[in-house]
Amino acid sequence: MRPRIRGGRTTVLAALLSLTLAAPIAAAQAQDAPSPGSTTGAARHAELPHQYEVTGPATRAERTALLATGVSIDEVHTRAVVITATRSQAATVHELGYALRKLPDPPGFATTAPHKPRVKDFPAGYANYHTYDEATKEIDALVAKYPEILSKQVIGTSHEGRNILALKLSKNVTKDEQEPEVLFTAHQHAREHLTVEMSLYLLKEFTSKYGSDSRVTKMLDSREIWIIPDLNPDGGEYDIASGQFRSWRKNRQPNAGSSGVGTDLNRNWDFKWGCCGGSSSSPSSETYRGKSPASAPEVQVVSKFVHGRNVGGKQQIKAAIDFHTYSELVLWPFGFTNDDTGPGMTQDDHDAFATIGKNMAATNGYTPEQSSDLYITDGSIDDWLWGDQKIFAYTFEMYPSSFGSGGFYPKDSVIPKETARNREAVLQLLETADCVYRAIGKEEQYCSGN
Ligand SMILES: [Zn+2]
Repeated sequence: MRPRIRGGRTTVLAALLSLTLAAPIAAAQAQDAPSPGSTTGAARHAELPHQYEVTGPATRAERTALLATGVSIDEVHTRAVVITATRSQAATVHELGYALRKLPDPPGFATTAPHKPRVKDFPAGYANYHTYDEATKEIDALVAKYPEILSKQVIGTSHEGRNILALKLSKNVTKDEQEPEVLFTAHQHAREHLTVEMSLYLLKEFTSKYGSDSRVTKMLDSREIWIIPDLNPDGGEYDIASGQFRSWRKNRQPNAGSSGVGTDLNRNWDFKWGCCGGSSSSPSSETYRGKSPASAPEVQVVSKFVHGRNVGGKQQIKAAIDFHTYSELVLWPFGFTNDDTGPGMTQDDHDAFATIGKNMAATNGYTPEQSSDLYITDGSIDDWLWGDQKIFAYTFEMYPSSFGSGGFYPKDSVIPKETARNREAVLQLLETADCVYRAIGKEEQYCSGN
């Protein structure tokens, strides 16, 4: 039944898309008269997206079909979702027969995209969030203070040339020891600023508690911990560059021949890229997958880094968490298929993923589920980390649980509580990283050779 519903909707959507989306885009281009291939004229006047509550979509097939309109789905409820959409995308969703309600914009939200950045900082009430420069300064200070256990490397640059950092935490940090490695990544999506704070929390917690907290000490003594605190610095800076939020999701890479700017980094990874209706081929979409797998420089940089941790034919990174906001979820692969098991995912793999995921969720009160229970995604980092690199990779959708509690823009007063909330889950993943199959009682079978 599900495929029939999906097929029908997809056909209708394709027809609607060509009618409703083509017109405004063509009009905008004519008005701004950009030279062929230029994106600056139209992009400067780009309309900012808003969030809408959509009543009706109740199955994962219906939610996945909704993505074909170019929106992103930010919240999932039994018979409703919250989406981010431009006005024309919202109109298309409405034509599908769903009821839409525009949600109020967050405090400090820009009403139009200003021509020139004015402030380059967070609005009032958000001052404790770190800009890219502030985060870099804080990281540099920690590296200077804890050189024995924390090291920094620049693993590449973003489209606009900002450094992408990888921090390593471990005893004897300058040596590549034979220890299980665990990767934490954050901020693929620009407006999810709380995830950068999550990275900074982990850096501060693991450095300041080393030697005094026995679990932290043991993990730094026996693991190599990697933190990539900001995968999308360009998008993050753009989101705050006017002094007001823009609800920006993607990176800032222009798309030739389109007024749509940016690639959704978490649809651009080179595993089952664009396979399954879980991303968009349209540059104006919130979930644009890019022109080819890993076409985004930021994805290339991190992919290369992860490949570099394959030493002597063996991937050193055993487990990972990619931090997002919001919805308070612990998600595991795959996202590209509704199947729990199949090629690349044995019953034992699935059981270990689900068991560890549920254990972590029990510590932070998030909801644990397979990623595709929400809707289909393809080209996500978790699918790539597991499908291509056999890294036990989770996505955490952090605070809040819903739009009503601040959505993508909770006030900075929540930062201490909502980052510390994941301490126990992070420690559990670190502690199990030497043999994830211990979680299902199969250490002997899978890990005795280590
Ligand atoms: Zn996200």
